[in-house]
Amino acid sequence: MRHRIAVIGGGPAGLTFARVLHRHDHPVTVLERDPAPDARPPGGTLDLHENLGQLALDKAGLLAEFRALSRPEGQAMRILDTDGTVLRDWRPRLDDRANPEIDRGQLRDLLLGPLDVQWGRGVTEVVPGTRDGVLVRFADGRQETFDLVVGADGAWSRVRPAVSSATPHYTGVTVVETSLDDVDTRHPDLARLVGDGSVAVYGVNRGLVAQRNSGGHVKVYAQFRAPLDWHTNLDRHGGVNRRAGLDAGLDAVLGAGLDLADVEAVRSRLLALFEGWAAPVLDLLRHGTAFVPRPLYVLPVSHTWAHVPGVTLLGDAAHLMPPLGVGANLAMLEGAELAESVAAASGPGDLDEAVRAFEEQTWARAGRWAKFTMAGLERLVSPDPTEALALFDEVQPS
Ligand SMILES: Cc1cc2nc3c(=O)[nH]c(=O)nc-3n(C[C@H](O)[C@H](O)[C@H](O)COP(=O)(O)OP(=O)(O)OC[C@H]3O[C@@H](n4cnc5c(N)ncnc54)[C@H](O)[C@@H]3O)c2cc1C
Repeated sequence: MRHRIAVIGGGPAGLTFARVLHRHDHPVTVLERDPAPDARPPGGTLDLHENLGQLALDKAGLLAEFRALSRPEGQAMRILDTDGTVLRDWRPRLDDRANPEIDRGQLRDLLLGPLDVQWGRGVTEVVPGTRDGVLVRFADGRQETFDLVVGADGAWSRVRPAVSSATPHYTGVTVVETSLDDVDTRHPDLARLVGDGSVAVYGVNRGLVAQRNSGGHVKVYAQFRAPLDWHTNLDRHGGVNRRAGLDAGLDAVLGAGLDLADVEAVRSRLLALFEGWAAPVLDLLRHGTAFVPRPLYVLPVSHTWAHVPGVTLLGDAAHLMPPLGVGANLAMLEGAELAESVAAASGPGDLDEAVRAFEEQTWARAGRWAKFTMAGLERLVSPDPTEALALFDEVQPS
């Protein structure tokens, strides 16, 4: 029996789910809000772990293609002190395939392959339990029904309310992202600083991380503890921040009336936040192009829900966690595992049982990673910068 299956969202979770179903010759409808694959910048680089993202690609039959595209040398990681002293300089062995990097855009295109995604189909609501199955309503007023609707629509999921009342909350850490292009020719010193992989510098309640993507593109992430409205409200939050014992120095970045679209104003606020750090490190900000703020939100750790027949969640929609290199990996593995279970289910009861079993299994694993990444964020953006170094030594023993 062929079930009518829809996946909402064409990110790592939704595309892996669809690609594995496709491999099993099971039809699937992929509904994505973006009007086209290249409608917005695809984002930075992802390291795919052998036992998570790479396992998912194996289930999709795409591991060999991934190996041809990915950058094992991108696993290299250097940590500097704020004065530029090299504290750690870890490089992978030539044959190390544990966590190679791949650009998000390349991963998306790899997963898309033969899939027939319906672009420009933003979902507004999912209503389980109608006579004809699960009803999906779209922003353009249309609606369709399916036997199973899989919510892979990310942090601000429109599918999640059909199973859970949980909503993401702010972690207290904001990332401001900027980029450099043609780094090897235009900024050779910075190219050497970043190396083949990443360079990170940690200070009190703040850090700067730069990661090499393919084609000489570097993404830089300035991260700091601050209230959500750090750019609009100085007086109230300057005081709150100090009372919380965080760091009075963060006043440099806090301030009323900062227009986040004003590149030079954001740059000078960030340079003030990292004042006194080594000049080559600050050059990462001086040469950055646009600045994009990304306040980090999370769902409650160990988020679960009472099973609802016909609807489930994958990836960030189910367990949004801090970006410590796990989210996309988990999203992909869940997508692949659910697809295999769904493809093996024949009757309607089997489908529901398969989804229920998948949820139980995935909740336990995601809960462990959510705890790990939340604790990791506390240590990476911490009043005591030696915590970040200690965390690196624990996960990357030399
Ligand atoms: C700065 C940063 C760095 C990160 N680095 C890493 C890393 O190195 N490794 C790692 O594993 N993870 C990393 N992550 C986490 C990772 O990006 C996410 O966990 C991952 O993208 C989740 O995949 P997803 O498919 O669940 O959701 P998403 O990637 O968010 O995809 C959701 C898709 O659904 C679509 N959509 C949304 N709403 C609707 C709607 N209403 N209707 C239809 N479609 C909709 C969106 O357009 C999108 O295409 C990072 C995150 C950040 C912010």
